[in-house]
Amino acid sequence: MKVLLLAGGPPGEHEVSLSSARGVLAAMPHPTELVVIAKDGRWLLGEDAYEALRAGVAEQGTHPFPPPVPWQHYDVVFPLLHGPLGEDGVIQGFLQLLRRPYVGAGVASSALCMDKDLCKRVLRQAGIPVVPWVTLYKGEPTPQPPFPPPYFVKPANTGSSVGISKVKADQDATRALAEAFAWDDKVLVEQGIEGVRELEVALLGNIHAEASVVGEITYQSEFYDYETKYTEGKAQLHLPAPIPPELSDEIRATALEAYRILGVRGMARVDFFLSPQGELYLNEFNTIPGFTPTSMYPKLWQATGLAYPDLLDRLVRLALER
Ligand code: ATP
Ligand code: MG
Ligand code: MG
Ligand code: MG
Repeated sequence: MKVLLLAGGPPGEHEVSLSSARGVLAAMPHPTELVVIAKDGRWLLGEDAYEALRAGVAEQGTHPFPPPVPWQHYDVVFPLLHGPLGEDGVIQGFLQLLRRPYVGAGVASSALCMDKDLCKRVLRQAGIPVVPWVTLYKGEPTPQPPFPPPYFVKPANTGSSVGISKVKADQDATRALAEAFAWDDKVLVEQGIEGVRELEVALLGNIHAEASVVGEITYQSEFYDYETKYTEGKAQLHLPAPIPPELSDEIRATALEAYRILGVRGMARVDFFLSPQGELYLNEFNTIPGFTPTSMYPKLWQATGLAYPDLLDRLVRLALER
């Protein structure tokens, strides 16, 4: 079985993707080749891709899209790309046109899970608790949110906390909105939960998925921002989370119900918030979670008894089974 790993992608989570790819290449129990998408959208093949992996970044690529990749030589493609174009259904649609099996969610599900606004609307409609928010489009007047600060201002379609700010007072909103609108023309202003506990669960499977143990993340920073996520030692991961078994069961069941509703395939990491008052909210779905040395998804499976290489083998097989 030959696997093709796609990594890199646009600025935002480009470096995160390459870091994820290093881990996956080292542990994948099948022959695997790498192709890198540079920040400028052009592709790097062969030795150039590995050079980009070693450098940790590729500003410029060689081949404009569509690149001369011998797609039919590979049994499965693993788009290990985070954020727009890679995690939102775009590359998934291209792989479908090529008739190549690929790891992870399909077109509609990827797009739905990537767009935090649309995803929360679907979850809310299904009765799954989500944190209140308002949606803003670029150029529109900013309404007063129907809840007090702190707010979290988020681009609708990013990950790794890229473009996200915590706003403690109304006068700081302008800067936060400008930052978020630099990444997307749709932005969420979400009610901030003070003293939040962050709980995450990993899902694996196609229509009938399995859930890992629940993990908790703690940190000293203001929130779980980019630097806290990827600087070794800045966040503490607790596996399993020190929570009552009933809460852990509720999280796993809610995540699996949402997985089914959103039509996810392959994998997802689902992020939950627990308020100090004990209210549980589903924060967001990540259909291509990080596989970096500090990433939760593989660690959650490891804590559940599934080693990293076995997890990768399962993901490849799930792609072929769909
Ligand atoms: P990921 O890297 O998990 O894909 P993301 O960029 O999709 O992250 P979120 O998970 O929505 O973004 O938010 C990033 C972090 O910001 C959260 O883990 C949390 O620390 C903080 N945060 C976001 N929304 C809220 C909220 N409503 N209340 C409290 N903290 C929040
Ligand atoms: Mg996310
Ligand atoms: Mg993400
Ligand atoms: Mg998150």
